[in-house]
Amino acid sequence: MQQARPGPLERVPPAGTPAVAVPPVMARAAALPADRWTKCPSCGAFVYYKRLEKNLRVCPECNYHFRVSARERVAFLVDAGSFVERDADLAPTDPLGFVDSKPYPVRIAENQKKSGAKEAAIYGTATIGGFPAIVCALDFTFLGGSMGAVVGEKVTRAVELGVETRTPVIVSSSSGGARMQEGTISLMQMAKTSAALGRLAEAGVPYFSLLTDPTYGGVSASFATLGDLIIAEPKVRVGFAGPQVIEQTIRQKLPEGFQTAEFLMDKGQIDLIIARAELPGTFRKLLNYHTRGAVSSGQSGGESAPQPTAHSPQPTTRTAWESVQLARHPDRPNLLEYAAAIFDDFTELHGDRNLRDDQAIVGGLGLLAGRPVMVVGHQKGRGTRENIARNFGMPHPEGYRKALRLMQYAGRLGLPLITLIDTPGAYPGLAAEERNQSEAIARNLMVMARLPIPIVCTIIGEGGSGGALAIGVGDRVLMLENTVYSVISPEGCATILFKDAASAPRAAEMSRLTAHELLRLGVADDVIPEPQGGAHTDPEGTAAALKGALVRHLDSLVGLSGTELVERRYARFRAFGSFA
Ligand SMILES: [Zn+2]
Repeated sequence: MQQARPGPLERVPPAGTPAVAVPPVMARAAALPADRWTKCPSCGAFVYYKRLEKNLRVCPECNYHFRVSARERVAFLVDAGSFVERDADLAPTDPLGFVDSKPYPVRIAENQKKSGAKEAAIYGTATIGGFPAIVCALDFTFLGGSMGAVVGEKVTRAVELGVETRTPVIVSSSSGGARMQEGTISLMQMAKTSAALGRLAEAGVPYFSLLTDPTYGGVSASFATLGDLIIAEPKVRVGFAGPQVIEQTIRQKLPEGFQTAEFLMDKGQIDLIIARAELPGTFRKLLNYHTRGAVSSGQSGGESAPQPTAHSPQPTTRTAWESVQLARHPDRPNLLEYAAAIFDDFTELHGDRNLRDDQAIVGGLGLLAGRPVMVVGHQKGRGTRENIARNFGMPHPEGYRKALRLMQYAGRLGLPLITLIDTPGAYPGLAAEERNQSEAIARNLMVMARLPIPIVCTIIGEGGSGGALAIGVGDRVLMLENTVYSVISPEGCATILFKDAASAPRAAEMSRLTAHELLRLGVADDVIPEPQGGAHTDPEGTAAALKGALVRHLDSLVGLSGTELVERRYARFRAFGSFA
């Protein structure tokens, strides 16, 4: 895949200054003892070595994350004393009899002596915040963290141990790519590690990939980018080909910040950017979502859940058009506001892994009354500026593909799915068509129908046509009292059928788009009451009512098997339609 060009291994940006760099010759620096001061390769500040160590080797001046060895990485991540290394003795051989400026075995011996490590990876079992995990870390200081047979083997064994013991796996990557001295055997490690991760995914065990500086080539193009979740330290550089190779190929200067973690986040390639000091806490939270069993029915529903509202509230005297206005009210609570009120420990996840992080769709993991769930929904903005950033809650295909990725994640790992629907519709634009908006929606309909997990969908504002249904194929479909769900906006319907946009109120009435009408038609299963003046007059009260309904409906589903859920969901949607 790297053709005749030199592999990215040799083309990665130069390694950061080694741990204890001697400051360059300058009057002031010359007086500093070399073993006590380290120069930050990013901002140039001289940092007292002990201060740097205390700060987990992050520059206190500019937040630059120094490269660290595999052993330091593990020590920074896991509970003190909990790491039990496995297969520490695996050592490389010289399958090709490779010689460049020196024989490969000599190069290996030099690196072993310099680093005190046998190879460029270690793995073993550990706990993080008390939760068991299998942790593997690559070491850039050993031959650029390049992946030969031993690195590939250790990653694979870590993953296989995860399959066998059903324990989450964390791999911290830091690598220039494949190891040229082991030739095509090195290339095959990409397939070997990825194949093992396929088994882990099928076993429903989570894999978290941690990207550290730098991660390139064959490591980036295999296990590092296959994480169920991908987490990066700030400003790390990650890519397939190194920047010099790209510049030579395209004969253009690359933009500022190219291939940094922040760039990858914007391009939808990673979920989270987390500072080194926050990593243990973040992993503790992530492991918690996947280590708890589903809370048994009844236990979780209790506390603040209101009484069942199967037939309540009483239909109001509001007109359909008034409901449309309330559903679109600019002060109406939005997804992130509900998420903050309803879910504990909510962690937003980002990106479709492909193009962009579409902010019109938000998804993340959280706890609903103690039970871990995946939450996915449309996100409108609060005010003009945020609304523009979120495209007024109208997703592009990449938004639906982010939703798809997170829904499949939930399906694979057995987490119930909660969707919150609030969109005028999928975005009708040029780029949206180019990226196949129709297919993005259609794919979601098909995949959602088959997910072997409980799915509860709620319309929290506007349920605009296919753009709403694309995250609306659930076992239960709930509607807040003053929301609407329709195949086309009343204005659009009026223009086409009544030849007059001013007839929108009449079109709204005819379309039977209110919560009570849809409950009667069987499209909705429950109507969640709102305060007298609408959800925006009492956001907390509305959130409490919504939470109660979510807990209650989820409780009624968690006892069913995946097969039963899929069968019933099929029957539910199969039944729509009346015939003469
Ligand atoms: Zn610095």
